[in-house]
Amino acid sequence: MVLGSGGPGADGRAASCYLVLIDGRARILLDAGPGAFARLGEAKLSLADTQVVLLTHLHVDHVGELPGLFKARAVAGGGPAVFEVWGPAGSASRHEGAYFPSTSQFLELLFGTKGAFAYLRDFAAPISLHAHDIPAEARPNPASRVILDESGLLIRAIAGHHGDAPAVIYRIDYARRSITFSGDIDAQGLPALRTIAKGSDLLVFNSVVLDPPASPAILYTLHTPPRAIGELARDAGVHRLLLSHIAPAVEQHEDAVLASIKRSYHGPVSLAADATRVLP
Ligand SMILES: [Zn+2]
Ligand SMILES: [Zn+2]
Repeated sequence: MVLGSGGPGADGRAASCYLVLIDGRARILLDAGPGAFARLGEAKLSLADTQVVLLTHLHVDHVGELPGLFKARAVAGGGPAVFEVWGPAGSASRHEGAYFPSTSQFLELLFGTKGAFAYLRDFAAPISLHAHDIPAEARPNPASRVILDESGLLIRAIAGHHGDAPAVIYRIDYARRSITFSGDIDAQGLPALRTIAKGSDLLVFNSVVLDPPASPAILYTLHTPPRAIGELARDAGVHRLLLSHIAPAVEQHEDAVLASIKRSYHGPVSLAADATRVLP
């Protein structure tokens, strides 16, 4: 269930956010972009059964709504909440590019005893948070790691690459179905994505730029253009491609974007919208 198909601009879509439903229950929250709070209510879904939270990276359009969504869970009833939160480790150095805290530091800054929203831990229902930092340095021969293996639900993670922001790619397998989420990703992250996405039923690929040189040069250091998206989907042998994190330029040039992808990839491709439901 796509709760947010846009970001980072306020262009009419909520920013990056997804719920993975298993046997009808919303078990996994992936990213928590601004606007998702409203979409959650519109979808008549709750986080009562959600224990797993997967964060691709700590840009605002992917995590800015986390306090709002946790509060929505707290006030919706359902007793104590426990969230297991995975996300990238922090920046290697404060001197290289922008600084990013680790996921555990990020949660501490928000919800710790001296955090901005310290009150929320025991506001309407007790909330327990368990943070898990995933090493996020891209490697030449990337290998995925299993982060959860429980009652048939298998979640794997691998370091992606997204400019100077530590980033993680996730793959979820259950009942012989699988979804891979690219997260925001540039060319340096594609070997890892190719590895982890192999044979996925669904690949959710963040689509922000047009083929070069149509988008601002700086954006190619952060994102993957359609031609490369198509090549990756072909090489990974994914069965279906869902473009999300849709930028206005991509929406305006939808036909050209799809044509570029289809030069290499011959499976079904569609653009996500808020409230899109996909069965992998
Ligand atoms: Zn980003
Ligand atoms: Zn983004």
